[in-house]
Amino acid sequence: MIRLVSLSSGSCGNAVYVESARTKILIDSGTTLKYLGEHLATLGTKIDEIEAILLTHEHSDHIRSAHSLSRKYGIKILANADTLDALPARFGVANIRVFPGGGDFFQVGDFEVQAVPHSHDCRSPVGFVLRHNKKKICIATDLGCVTSLVEDGLRGAHIVVLESNHDFIMLAEGHYPPHLKARISSKVGHLSNTMAGRTLARLATGKSQKVLLAHLSQSNNSPAVAMKTVEGILSNNNIDSIELGIAPRLAPSVMLTA
Ligand SMILES: [Zn+2]
Ligand SMILES: [Zn+2]
Repeated sequence: MIRLVSLSSGSCGNAVYVESARTKILIDSGTTLKYLGEHLATLGTKIDEIEAILLTHEHSDHIRSAHSLSRKYGIKILANADTLDALPARFGVANIRVFPGGGDFFQVGDFEVQAVPHSHDCRSPVGFVLRHNKKKICIATDLGCVTSLVEDGLRGAHIVVLESNHDFIMLAEGHYPPHLKARISSKVGHLSNTMAGRTLARLATGKSQKVLLAHLSQSNNSPAVAMKTVEGILSNNNIDSIELGIAPRLAPSVMLTA
């Protein structure tokens, strides 16, 4: 069985914990070390049991404690070459490995992992598909648009963590400066609630999927607005196979299992 918990999600810091019977990993490590340790402990996991940290990209909300985790506990950091190149100098002493680009699969303990290229404003951002025991997980946050490669990752996944960053109207009418509004809603920015809902609806296969809406903006979204928007799109398309939840900011989500 695979278990997944989003430990924290959004600009406050991102970390998704995934475990099989034998392998425990983190996707990103963007909160403080103290926060991670406390919340992993509530799941019965010690930090030094983590086998690897997979980095999606170099933005600080995804890497904050990765370096300390690696240096203190010897946990290996896995990222593609461009992301490694873009990491701050302090990562020079960390235990770092490069994973292959180009859609190739690589093994991390029990998990067969594939990095999926994302469209986002940094060097070489990715999401991840993880497979184990015929179950598929897809983690897709920090992306401005959904490419066919992202669709391939999401299609048929038993567990999905999908960005639902902002509400169009809240962003347009909010207090952010024009250049930031343009960046967020661009193809290299962040996925809106509507885009998340339409993507889920378009790719639904009728088989049950557990979905966490993630990386919600504090200023331009709320859990209630994100849920209402995505639920509305799914129900308009007569889709009842998707179980929706929210990945909260600075708090763990419910545990998803597959
Ligand atoms: Zn982010
Ligand atoms: Zn980012």
